[in-house]
Amino acid sequence: MAVPISQMWTVATYVLKKRLTGQMRYPLVLMLEPLFRCNLACAGCGKVQYPPHILKKQLTPEQCFAAVEECGAPMVSIPGGEPLLHPQIVEIVNGLIARKKYIYLCTNALELKRRLHEFTPSKYLTFSVHLDGDREHHDFSVCREGGYDIAVEGIKEAVKRGFRVTTNATFFDGTDPNNVRGFFDDVMAMGVEGIVLSPGYSYEMAPDQNRFLGRARVRRLFRAILSNRKKTWKFNMSPLFLEFLMGDRKYECTPWGSPAYNIFGWQRPCYLLQDGYAETFQELLDTTQWEEYGVASGNPKCANCMVSCGYEPSAVMDGFGSLSGFWAMVRGTFRTYKDQHALNLLNEPMPHGPSSLVKISSSRELEETNA
Ligand code: SF4
Ligand code: SF4
Repeated sequence: MAVPISQMWTVATYVLKKRLTGQMRYPLVLMLEPLFRCNLACAGCGKVQYPPHILKKQLTPEQCFAAVEECGAPMVSIPGGEPLLHPQIVEIVNGLIARKKYIYLCTNALELKRRLHEFTPSKYLTFSVHLDGDREHHDFSVCREGGYDIAVEGIKEAVKRGFRVTTNATFFDGTDPNNVRGFFDDVMAMGVEGIVLSPGYSYEMAPDQNRFLGRARVRRLFRAILSNRKKTWKFNMSPLFLEFLMGDRKYECTPWGSPAYNIFGWQRPCYLLQDGYAETFQELLDTTQWEEYGVASGNPKCANCMVSCGYEPSAVMDGFGSLSGFWAMVRGTFRTYKDQHALNLLNEPMPHGPSSLVKISSSRELEETNA
């Protein structure tokens, strides 16, 4: 695992305090979406489909700070949209660093190199760069030729300037595990701290609905990718969550572990579904019918979900919540997961070929929205 000790210590003591005070539901990572607009239009994205008047809106720094303080999570992920398009993103980031929050600024890195001088390296700030595979696969995934090369330039410059950098990949149906393993080598050679990955979630709003994976196929794909792993690969994720993706562990979803706040308020129940909004975090905790979500609930919207925002908090709470969980986490950090069956999977043909590119909107429309 590639997470620094100071950050692990902060999270571990936070989880222990919550357990000792008997709190059953508590947040680990706040998903703070300061805006939905973006300079890309990826086929699997469920955010950039909002109408232009919504895409023009954004949270103020004060709204961001109030949400962070109210929620109290030790980590803040800033997805979007593209956060670097927010005119006050530097003020937001600096305000969160001053509050000693570990920030993951999720960016497609089209603007990263140009904007880096505005930020200061800190143990609290990580640029989490969206990179879905090698040049061909990433450009296909984000529907933009040249996107990979620009992102890699941004990554290299950020690493050179001493920033913490991770890459963040979402894998859809048709993903070739051999290709992903080669991609991991490429990414680690760029000098990043670690890799973050997740299966795609079938957003109802995403234009290409044929790309999403069912649970059995998620396990098969991640077993092929993550077994027999190289010691040079570092993951900025809980090893227990990776075991969950590989089918070695069963977890229920803990959506309150990664609550989402955006221009509409506190999203119910999670970053992915939209069953209404609460005005305050406490209201979200108290009034959401949590038993109606997760695979065990039978809710069809959750049936195929294994994404990190729902299940990584479950893995982290397990890892820091008991001695056996902690031992499994330490062991998982150093294991290479030798598995002959998984090696054989690498030689089998992909169950589905890659789906076709979906163009969402013209660059002209995007320019108008971003204006
Ligand atoms: S980079 Fe792609 S997935 Fe991320 S917000 Fe923009 S369009 Fe959506
Ligand atoms: S299972 Fe997935 S979609 Fe359902 S509540 Fe959990 S994170 Fe959200």
